[in-house]
Formats: sequence, structure tokens, C-alpha cells
Amino acid sequence: MNFGTNADTICALSTASGMGAIAVVRVSGSKAIAIVNQIFSKDISNAESHTAHFGILKDNMQIIDEVLLNVFHVNRSFTGEETVEIGCHGSVFIQQAILQLLIKHGCRLAEAGEFTMRAYMNNRFDLAQAEAIADLIASRSAAAHRMALTQMRGGVSKQLAELRQQLIDFAALIELELDFSEEDVEFADRSRLTLLIAEIMQVIDKLRKSFHLGNAIKNGIPVAIVGAPNVGKSTLLNAFLNEEKAIVSEIPGTTRDFIEDEIIIKGVSYRFVDTAGLRETTDIVENLGIERSFKKAAEASVVLYLLDERNTNPTQTIAELQAFQASYITTQEFIVVVNKLDLTNKQFDFLAEFNPVFISAMSQINLDVLIDRIAAVSSQFSEQQNEVLISNVRHFEALNRAYEDLIRVQDGMNSGLPTDLIAMDIRQVIGHIGSITGAVDVEEVLGSIFSKFCIGK
Ligand code: GDP
Ligand code: MG
Repeated sequence: MNFGTNADTICALSTASGMGAIAVVRVSGSKAIAIVNQIFSKDISNAESHTAHFGILKDNMQIIDEVLLNVFHVNRSFTGEETVEIGCHGSVFIQQAILQLLIKHGCRLAEAGEFTMRAYMNNRFDLAQAEAIADLIASRSAAAHRMALTQMRGGVSKQLAELRQQLIDFAALIELELDFSEEDVEFADRSRLTLLIAEIMQVIDKLRKSFHLGNAIKNGIPVAIVGAPNVGKSTLLNAFLNEEKAIVSEIPGTTRDFIEDEIIIKGVSYRFVDTAGLRETTDIVENLGIERSFKKAAEASVVLYLLDERNTNPTQTIAELQAFQASYITTQEFIVVVNKLDLTNKQFDFLAEFNPVFISAMSQINLDVLIDRIAAVSSQFSEQQNEVLISNVRHFEALNRAYEDLIRVQDGMNSGLPTDLIAMDIRQVIGHIGSITGAVDVEEVLGSIFSKFCIGK
């Protein structure tokens, strides 16, 4: 992305591409009002900020559309630049005609994310907030929406900025010591630094640990459906999704790989993964599928282990459940489900210790009970609703690096490392924390972040 072109006035379609009732074309830059004025039926050159103007857009004598313009002055718009938003009728032809007309009169088509990047450049918000805008636009569930909103309003940024400032103050004192190194003075109180480092490590550790949850909220909580062939895994997924996405068959081993889909339960999104059956097999392709399904179970937050009416041998069934649990269950919620309730009235008392849910995936019996059990997992989310959660991989990585450097600072202080080396590590930490909010502006980082936005944002 080119950073030297902020003098240009840019334009783009800011609503979704394709036909709609109305569409909005956004124009931003120092000539926004002047350019639009040339093609509008009324004179808006003296229009006040935050005013709307109804009129006709025309290309010389040819009328293109009746439109509603919204005018925003410098420092009072999303980008911070002079901006005109053109609300037009949503035909693709009109959208294109308006863009071409604007380009003819001196606009340049905006690059992906360029509006948001300009807003960032004009200090409308920091990087973490800019990224939250992308998340907000992409959010599909209430929980993801809430999380992006917290971040956009500066939740993460505020916490990090405070920590960073404290470190900067300390680094300044330490560097002062280096200047006076012959005098052997200590400006920076070592015991206070030790405390500060410990405190910062605690906050950063908490933030990076919140990534697991934050990421699950953003991308859906992964739920793996596992069990022997033909217990009804694919049927259950279909029942949840109400469509025939997974292949259901009576031939064991039909689901060779996993199939994934998202459903939203009580405002939280879940990603259900139908996996290949757990069984010994000599079929190489199926074996690969099973291996991957084990991996999916290990990565999931919730594992549904399906049994059916054939699992009547207590010793064998319990041994299998325990073996699976021992190998693949660590922190995941493990829910044992007995399927095909419609086929059997056999007792499964021997499973009591696993507190199983009895369902029929085919006849859709007790699916609500199962859904409640799964949803209980997300109750922990509501407890953490007001906490700052990290959901961005880039932030997660920066926090991990900051944490590693903090360990080095700590070790260095304990082992009496020379002050200049400790100061270097502290600078590194400051850099990592700063990279999250954009306090250090590396063009490469900026370019890669904003180019992930789509055009018009
Ligand atoms: P998978 O191998 O675990 O994915 O099992 P499938 O979902 O392909 O189902 C295997 C067979 O069991 C199919 O013939 C399904 O129709 C049948 N089945 C699944 N659930 C039920 C159920 O609740 N009741 C009955 N009677 N049959 C079921
Ligand atoms: Mg299947």
C-alpha cells in the first residue's frame, strides 16, 4: 500500500457490492466537496458539516441519479478528512457510473482499507481499534459483536498504553544511569522495577490466555462430534444444521474427512465438526480421516462422544470411553451422548458416571437437552463479558513475544546482568506492546493490516 498519496481524494462503494435498494459511495480527501460540487445540481461549496442535500447527479447533460449527499468537514468525519457520502439508488449500473464520473473529475479509486487507514493516520483511533472495526463488520454472533465493540472503544488499547507508559518511564531512568555510568548512581529503583515487571507479566499473561476464548468467540466455539462408525454423527450434525450437508449412510466409514458448519445458540456461535468414525481400519484414506478427527477432538472446546444401542457391553464401552478421554481430553468439555433412543429401551445405567444425554438424532428427540448442555459451556463467556479479551492473532503473537522478553528482563535482573543489556530487553518489550496499538509505525505492518480490509472501508 502506498503511503505517499494522502493528497489524493479517494472514492469507493462503501456498501456491499451488487444490487440493493440503496448504495453509498464515499468520497474522502481535500477536494471531496469541490469534486462532487462539479457533478451535483446544487451548490454545496459552502455546505456545513453534517448536513444532507437532496439533488441530481449528472454527467454534463445526462442525469445519472437522484441522490442524497451527506457532507462532513475536516476532523469531523470517519477518515478525519473532508468527506462526501453519496446515497444513490442501488443499481450496479448507477454505482459504476457515479464512480467513473468521480474519477473523471479527479478522484482516485480507494485501495482496500484505505478509508480506515486514513482515519488511523489522522489519529481517529489506534491500530487495535482499526482492527476491531474489521471484526465488527465481520461479526456474525452477538458475542463476537460485543467483543469487537469493546475493542473498538479502546478496551485493549487503554490497558496496554498504561503498561507501556510505565515501562517507558523506567527505561528512561535506566538509560539515564547509563549516561552517568562512571558515577555509579542508581536512578531506577531496582525493587520497584522488579515489582513493575512482575505486575506487567501478570497482565500480559492474562491477556494472552484470553486469546483462546476470544478466538473461539470470534470464529465460533469448536465442537467435535466423535464416535464409532454408524452411531449417527453425520445425522446429528444434519439435525443441528437442518440440512443434508454431511453424508448419511448405512455403510460404516462413509464420512472420510470432517465436515464443518456454524450454528448460533443463544447469541454465541459454535462450529460443529463431523468427524470420521473412531475404529480400527486398514483403509488408508479412512485412516487419515480418523487421525485428523482425533486431532479435531484435541483442538475442540467441546467434544460430543456418541454411542448407540449397540454399546450394551458395560466393560468394553467404559474402557473405550476412558481410553479416549485419557488420550484426547484435557480441558475440553466432554459430553457423552447415547443416540438412537427411538430404537431401544435398554438401560444404560452403567454410564451414570459420565452423565450421558439420551437423544435420537434421526427423530430429533432431546436435541434441546443436548443443546442446553453445550450452551452451558458458554456461560463462562458471560462471566467474562466485561473483561478485555484478545481475539486477534497478531496481538496474541506480540503479547507472547513481550512475555518472553519480560522473562529475560527478570532473569537479567536476578543474575545481575549489565544495565545496558537489561535496557535493551525493556526496549524490546515496549516495541512489542506498542506494535499492538500502532505506537510504533512500521509501514510494512500497517500495509499488511489495512490491505486485509475490503475496498470502501
Ligand atoms: P456416522 O457414521 O456416525 O456418521 O452415522 P450416520 O449419521 O451416517 O448414521 C448411520 C445410520 O444410523 C444411518 O442409517 C442413520 O439413518 C441411522 N441413524 C442415525 N441416527 C439415528 C437415530 O436417532 N435413530 C435411528 N433409528 N437411526 C439413526
Ligand atoms: Mg458420518
